[in-house]
Amino acid sequence: MSAHESEWTLRRLSAGELAAAEAARVQAHATSCTVCGPALRELQQEQARFETAVPFERFEAGVERAVQRQRRSESFRAPPRRWVATTVAMAASVLVVLLVRPLLGDVGRETGTNRIKGGAVAELRIGGGLGPQREARPDAPEALEPGERVMLGYQADGHRYVAAVSVDAIGEVTPLHPESGTSPAVESGTDMHWLPDSWELTGSGAERVVLVLLDAPLPVDTLVDAAKRAFQAANGDVEHMAPLDVPGEQTHWVLLKP
Ligand SMILES: [Zn+2]
Repeated sequence: MSAHESEWTLRRLSAGELAAAEAARVQAHATSCTVCGPALRELQQEQARFETAVPFERFEAGVERAVQRQRRSESFRAPPRRWVATTVAMAASVLVVLLVRPLLGDVGRETGTNRIKGGAVAELRIGGGLGPQREARPDAPEALEPGERVMLGYQADGHRYVAAVSVDAIGEVTPLHPESGTSPAVESGTDMHWLPDSWELTGSGAERVVLVLLDAPLPVDTLVDAAKRAFQAANGDVEHMAPLDVPGEQTHWVLLKP
């Protein structure tokens, strides 16, 4: 029996995933242990740095815009959107520390980003629920908790336009960015840029999110059609769709709705 707690246990403690009795025991050990105490603090600081990179007001601003858009669309009696905006009270205090998804492996963990080929990067950030912010990996489905929202970020690395869509379990495709028209230009600069909105997925089951970085503008309808074709080609299995038949670099994530 080891004298110290494993990193995995400390991460689970941080994430609030331990049962009360065990949490108390591990916390008590970490408080008095010169090895586990600093390790626990380092995990908490790591998460704080991760979250500082995406100020949460960005999520909140996205919520505001989405709510306004929702009101507009309701006034036009548009069909209900599956990505429904809700006013989530985002208490920054509960979002500060804590790491979830322990031991997912090293892919994308070191930098917190997903590097596409070349220098382009796409990232899907989950936040806005009661749990900590985290990044979804492109290669494994990520479960969402109730109330959690999604933001999309990119480093364009020379690509000039950006667009994003989602596909739900019954093949309904929603243009996320832009909602209509043609893919807008990327923001200038080499930093990570976040799309201005955040989204909450409604309904249940899996949903695929695709972000595309392009060298020429692409009508979002073309992207939607390509997503529908890919869904059909996968025999309606949204979790196992092939890349969309569009130019540019694309990144896919699969999210499992609560
Ligand atoms: Zn210890």
